[in-house]
Amino acid sequence: MARYTGPVCRLCRREDAKLFLKGDRCFSDKCGYERRQYPPGQHGQGRKRRPSDYGQQLREKQKVKRMYGLLEKQFRGYYHKASRMKGVTGENLLRLLECRLDNVALRCGFSSSHAEARQLVRHGHFTVNGKRVNIPSYQVRAGDVVVVRERSRKMQKIVEAVANVDRVQRPSWIDLDKDSFTGKITSVPARADIAADIDEQLIVELYSK
Ligand code: SF4
Repeated sequence: MARYTGPVCRLCRREDAKLFLKGDRCFSDKCGYERRQYPPGQHGQGRKRRPSDYGQQLREKQKVKRMYGLLEKQFRGYYHKASRMKGVTGENLLRLLECRLDNVALRCGFSSSHAEARQLVRHGHFTVNGKRVNIPSYQVRAGDVVVVRERSRKMQKIVEAVANVDRVQRPSWIDLDKDSFTGKITSVPARADIAADIDEQLIVELYSK
């Protein structure tokens, strides 16, 4: 699956929000967004114009897409899946994104960024309910248990991420036991459990045109 490999701090600056794409650096004073809070590019510091409705919808979609490390085709696929599900489309969309295995690994604190979590999943460092899973888009369900494999627990990336696990608040739908490198999904996340500053309705409006 293709992925964005360009500079990521410019994505935060473009979306005017901290997207936490670079792990430890995001929590340091080297954060690119903290240092330059204006859009990237030659005209980034120019006059700010009020965005149109379409502009706001587009930026919100781009922000969420980048937050979860997805490209357009995949993201749109999630939207279509969400729109076919029962309930509110925007909330379904966020729930589908939150329940991706790479995102769950990040939320458990087994990695410091989405990109790293994705790579760890691809390299087979996790099991779900005792079975090795190496598909980042794998959807976890309530009751699933995500564990770092025994032989991967000494990996520096994972050790460091787990050491910093209390740096961010754990979501209420994940029960983490960091000593056994185990995250249990206690329920599927409700909208209120997804802390990110997202207006999902704007995304629904954009795609339903
Ligand atoms: Fe965004 Fe992290 Fe870069 Fe800061 S350091 S701009 S939060 S990716």
